[in-house]
Amino acid sequence: MMPTTLSTLLQKYSRPGPRYTSYPTVPVWSDRFGADDYRAALRELAAESDAADLCLYVHLPFCAMACLYCGCNNAVTSKAEVVDAYLDRVAREIALVSDILGGRRRVVQMHWGGGTPNVLTPHQMERLVRLIEAAFDLDWNGEMSLEIDPRVASFVQLKHIRSLGFRRISLGVQDFAPQVQQAIGRHQPEALTVGIFAACRAVGFESINLDLVYGLPLQTRATFERTVDTVLAMRPDRLAIFNYAHVPKLRPKQRHIRPEDLPDVTTRFAMFDDARQRLTEHAYVWVGMDHFARQDDELAVAAREKRLHRNFMGYTLRPASNLIAFGMSGISELSGYYAQNDAKLGTYQRTLDRNELPIVRGHRLTPDDQRRRAAIAHLMCNMELLLTDIDEDLRTSLAALRPMAEDGLIQFEPDRVTVTALGRPFVRNICMTLDAYLQADTTRPIFSKTI
Ligand code: SF4
Repeated sequence: MMPTTLSTLLQKYSRPGPRYTSYPTVPVWSDRFGADDYRAALRELAAESDAADLCLYVHLPFCAMACLYCGCNNAVTSKAEVVDAYLDRVAREIALVSDILGGRRRVVQMHWGGGTPNVLTPHQMERLVRLIEAAFDLDWNGEMSLEIDPRVASFVQLKHIRSLGFRRISLGVQDFAPQVQQAIGRHQPEALTVGIFAACRAVGFESINLDLVYGLPLQTRATFERTVDTVLAMRPDRLAIFNYAHVPKLRPKQRHIRPEDLPDVTTRFAMFDDARQRLTEHAYVWVGMDHFARQDDELAVAAREKRLHRNFMGYTLRPASNLIAFGMSGISELSGYYAQNDAKLGTYQRTLDRNELPIVRGHRLTPDDQRRRAAIAHLMCNMELLLTDIDEDLRTSLAALRPMAEDGLIQFEPDRVTVTALGRPFVRNICMTLDAYLQADTTRPIFSKTI
C-alpha cells in the first residue's frame, strides 16, 4: 500500500456527504408519496400480529431567538398563543394516527426535538405529555429525552421537566469562545451553561448530552480545545460533536456568516481530531461517526457490543423500525417506509385543520433499498460491513471500495470489511459507495431543503 498523507486524503475525500440517518436519503423520496400511502403503511403496522414497540419523535419548532448557523426547521416566537395553536394541531395529528393504529401501543423511546422544546410553558409541556399518554402507553423507563436551549432554561423549569418523567436531556452548547458566539448570533455565557448543566444533575436527569459544533466562523484549534476542556470538566454522559455545514443557499440565515471566517478543511479536521484525542484520554468512547459517551454509559456499552442503531434521532439503543413523528417536518420510519410531514408551519396546520395527515413526501423501500439500508446502518454504527450479510448485487459495489483500501481507510478481511482508525472520519464517503442512487446520478443533491 502506498503511504498517503493526510492532506492528500482530505483533498480526495473531503466533500459533502449525507449523514445517512436514512437510506435512501431524503432527496430521493417522492412527493407522489402522500397521506394515503402513509395511512396504508400505518394500517400495515396495525395489522402486524406481534405489536412491536414504538418510538415517537415530536418536533417543536419554536425558538426564542434565531441563531445564524442553524440548520433546523424552526420559527422564532415567544408567543404562548402561537405555541398553543400548534399544539392543537399536534393533538389532531396524534388522534388521526392513533385512530389508524387502533388500540394503545407501547412507546419505549420518545424524543422532543426542535427548535427549542423548552420554550413551551410548564402547562404546554404537561398538556403535550397528557395528549401522548392518552393515545399511547409511554414506558417512562425507556429512552425518554428532550433537547433544551440553556439560554431559556431555569432550575424550576428543569425540575418540572424531570417530574414529567424525562430521564435524558440534551443541551446545545456549540462553542464557548465569545467571538465565535458573536459570529453565529448565539450569546450563551459559559457560566450560564455550566449553571444549567449543574441544575440538570441536581434535579436528577440520569443522562446529560452536550452538543458541540466545529467548523464555525472564527473558531480556531485553540478556542475549540478550550471549549472541549471546559466541557470535560463538566463530565457529561454523552457528547455529540457535529461538523458545521455551510449551505447558505438552503439556509438563508447563514448568508450572514462570512465564508472567509470559516476554518479551512485541514483545520476542521484537526479540531475534531484534537477533541477525539482529548475525550478518549479522559475515558470517553468514540461512538459511531461523531458521538462520544462515558465508558459506563449504555451507548458506549452498546457500541462495544455492536448493538447500536441509527435513526433520525441519531445513535440509539433500539432499532427504530417503527418510529412515528409528529409535528412539522417530522419524519416517520415504519418498516419499509419513510414519510415526512410538511416543513412549513402554515400548511402543516391548515392540512390538519381539514383532518388530513400532513405528509408531503416519502418512500417505499425496495428489497434492494432494505439491504443497502442495513449495510449502511451497520457501517455507520459498527464501522464494519459483514460480507455474510450482503448479497451478490451489493458485492459488486465492493469494487468501488478498493481505492479506499489502498488509501488505508478500510481493510478487507475474509468475512468483513472493517473501517480503520484513519478511515473513520471518512465513513460517509465509504457509505456513499454503497448508495445506489448517488452512484446512478452524481448530480443528485446531497442535502435536502426540508430537514
Ligand atoms: S440552533 Fe437551536 S436555538 Fe438556535 S435557532 Fe436553531 S433550533 Fe433555535
